[in-house]
Formats: sequence, C-alpha cells, structure tokens
Amino acid sequence: MKVRQIGAALAATALALTASACGSSGGAGGGGDTMKVGIKFDQPGLGLKVGSDYKGLDVDVAKYVAKELGKTPEFIQAPSAQRETLLSTGQVTLIFATYSITDKRKESVSFAGPYFIAGQDLLVRADNSDITGPDSLAGKKLCSVTGSTSAQKIKDKVPGVNLQEFGTYSECVAALDAGTIDALTTDNTILAGFAAQEQYKGKLKVVGNTFSEERYGVGLKKGDKALCEQVNAALKKMVDSGEWQKAVDANLGPAGFKPGAGNPPAADACS
Ligand code: GLU
Repeated sequence: MKVRQIGAALAATALALTASACGSSGGAGGGGDTMKVGIKFDQPGLGLKVGSDYKGLDVDVAKYVAKELGKTPEFIQAPSAQRETLLSTGQVTLIFATYSITDKRKESVSFAGPYFIAGQDLLVRADNSDITGPDSLAGKKLCSVTGSTSAQKIKDKVPGVNLQEFGTYSECVAALDAGTIDALTTDNTILAGFAAQEQYKGKLKVVGNTFSEERYGVGLKKGDKALCEQVNAALKKMVDSGEWQKAVDANLGPAGFKPGAGNPPAADACS
C-alpha cells in the first residue's frame, strides 16, 4: 500500500470511529438512541401488542425509564422461559415482563426495582366453585407457563399436581375457556387482565386467594450496577411524580385490579 493510500485508509477509520462515538452518545446502554427492551406481547394490562402498538403497565414503566435514560425503546417479545437468555446474550438491554426477582434468576441476571408487587393466584371458569386455592387442586388439570415462578411454586406446594406447561399464558387461557384444563395459575395481575378481556367477560374468574409474593424487577445484564442504579433513579422519579400511580390506574384499573400492600415498593440496593 502506498503512503497516500494508507493516509486515506486512516482517515476513513477515524471518520468511522467519530461516527460510532456520536451514535452512542445517547446515554446508558450504548448503541445509539434506541434500546432493546423485552416485554410480554400477550398479557392484557401489563404487556400487550396491539397492531404495531404496545400497551400495559410494564410498557408504560419501560417507556418512562427508557426516556429517563435518553433512549427510545424498541420492544422485543420476552416469553417467561427466555428472559435470562435474552439478557445474558445481549439481545435485549432491559426486561419489563412481570419478571419476579428471585435468587435463582440472580445467578444469571441482575434486577433493578422492584416496581410492583403481585401475588400468585388461580383463574377458573366462572361456574367453578370447588377450586378455592392450592389445597383444592387434587385431581384437577392445571396450566401454567414454562420458566415461570408460578409453575415452580405450584409444583413445590402441591406435589404430584397435574400441571400442563405452555409457552405463554394466553395459550392457557384458551385451554381454560375450551374446558381442556380446570385452572390457570400465575400472578393475580395477569389473571385479572385476562378475566376482564371482552371475549372472557363473565366466563372466567380469579379465585382471589394469593399464595406468594411476586416482586416485579427490571431485568438487566448480570453485574451492570451503573445501569441498575440509573433504572432505580428513574423508577423513584416515576413514583414521586405520580406517574407510577397514573400508569397503574390506567392499565390495571379497567380490570378492577387494586394493587395490594407494599405498593409502590422501594427499590432494592443494586449489586
Ligand atoms: N411473575 C412470575 C415470573 O416471573 C410469573 C409471570 C411470568 O411468567 O411472567 O415468573
């Protein structure tokens, strides 16, 4: 290569470097002004894809936090069983997907928050009167989702339970409505959202007897303490400004869901 060519190549490299440096000046997370954010696509009131739009409490909290971080969220579907992988492989930067903080999950990811506290419950057909809680599930067909705390907890609590595990809660709801299962178990927030959907109104009911505490965290790459602290600061601002309450009322209110004790929660320390 001649000296002049080398000079041109160096200049091109310098330009490219400047361009990429400008592109990542948008704040936390790097990689330009958009940030890949994992949410659920099929959970009414929480994370729901409606055409090209996204709705729900998780979506509103995600939008608020992303804005505080100087980013525009690009929403990616994060099914329960894929959340840890999506984060550890960098396919998403943050996850807001009814994602309970647990010690087991903390082995592979970190959490900001919590930003909401829910509890595990049961959804049954409206005419069902014999399922009243985990103690009345003998001989019943139950549904939950692979990789959820809900499936794990019911197996621990009711050994030998007849549990079918699907990839999403909407598949369980369809099976419940069709009569192929007797109950669906997961967080009361999710169950209330389904029960209030137009096509299930009057056909399904939440039992209303919670048996766990689900602390919804914001999933992020394990050990990214700086990002965790930025997210916690944004969450605090959302609560202090009244925007958290507005988002809760707008998204969970239509289903008649009232947040239980401990809401809004204060965030844990980042580690
Ligand atoms: N909050 C529970 C969990 O993180 C159940 C809901 C879900 O699967 O997203 O596993």
